[in-house]
Amino acid sequence: MQFKDIEGQRVLINHLTEIIDAGRVSHAQMFLGPTSSGSLALAVAYAQYLGCENRQHYPEGSELRADSCGECPHCRKYAQLMHTDLHFVFPTFTTKKVESKPCSDDFQEEFRNFLLEHRLLGTEAEWYASFKTENKQGMIRERDADNIRRMLSMKSYEGGYKVLVIWMAERMNQRSANELLKTIEEPTDNTLILLVAENRDLMLPTILSRVQQVTVQGTGIGLSAEQQQAYAQVFVSWMRLLFKLNMRPLSDWVDQTAGMAREMQKQFLQYTQEMLRACFLKTAAGIVLEDELRFGDEKFDAAFPSMVTVRNVDKMQEAVNDAAFALSRNANAKITFMNLSFKLSKLIRNR
Ligand SMILES: [Zn+2]
Repeated sequence: MQFKDIEGQRVLINHLTEIIDAGRVSHAQMFLGPTSSGSLALAVAYAQYLGCENRQHYPEGSELRADSCGECPHCRKYAQLMHTDLHFVFPTFTTKKVESKPCSDDFQEEFRNFLLEHRLLGTEAEWYASFKTENKQGMIRERDADNIRRMLSMKSYEGGYKVLVIWMAERMNQRSANELLKTIEEPTDNTLILLVAENRDLMLPTILSRVQQVTVQGTGIGLSAEQQQAYAQVFVSWMRLLFKLNMRPLSDWVDQTAGMAREMQKQFLQYTQEMLRACFLKTAAGIVLEDELRFGDEKFDAAFPSMVTVRNVDKMQEAVNDAAFALSRNANAKITFMNLSFKLSKLIRNR
């Protein structure tokens, strides 16, 4: 992953390459921001630049002031995510293949394929969905912690930095987080630990205080264009059903939505939340919606925003929040979406 392949983030990238060129690399850093806006891609591009044998520098005034070469042996291995000194730790769960005590080492190949396929922008929900397992939340567990310790105590294979990337670091359980903390406090030579996290609030304060933070600004609501489009379709058909309160098709919609992976259900509710807010802003303040905040259905785009008014917007958002909370507590998805449908339907019709 070269910096040039990452969309936007030019100011941040120039800052990162400057730090490396000045030799001020801190051994533990956290890239904080949605994966879909490039937090993981930036972390990997950063590590690639650090080890590149032929760093490129561009003339004053160029958008990017520096980048890795993309051609040296180090860069070529990084492009395939196959460098022996690059290690990934990420949330996992039990599957048919790994029936107990799963850890990242059991899924290295699947993970690498997932990363390459999504150009390092794939979300947590997409990672889980790639297993077609429903309703599972991954974790970074004890065995990961053991592997982290072992990996960092070994010499680097190729003489440069050993890089450990922990993706969705907020999914570390207590033990793995404590283990990581010890590692951060007693750094070994030429070790770089890059945490990638989306939610700062879920990280142990003791870890936060010991890592250098790099904030990656999200773009829009942090979904890829395809996801956005998929959720928009689900949303549009849902709202049309709610307006007419057509029971039979509504119950089909609920069945379908309850059949999605749990992480996607939560993400869809987050999408719903953002869109309701955007619609309200359009109605209340006449703010024109950015392209990405449209539904891609001309009639719906024209008519729907006016249904979200000052009288119902708070209650709608509250209902969606309640549903998201219920899902995170493993409530029955069919009941949750059906309840939410009734509440929203009432609010839309009594706007
Ligand atoms: Zn290179």
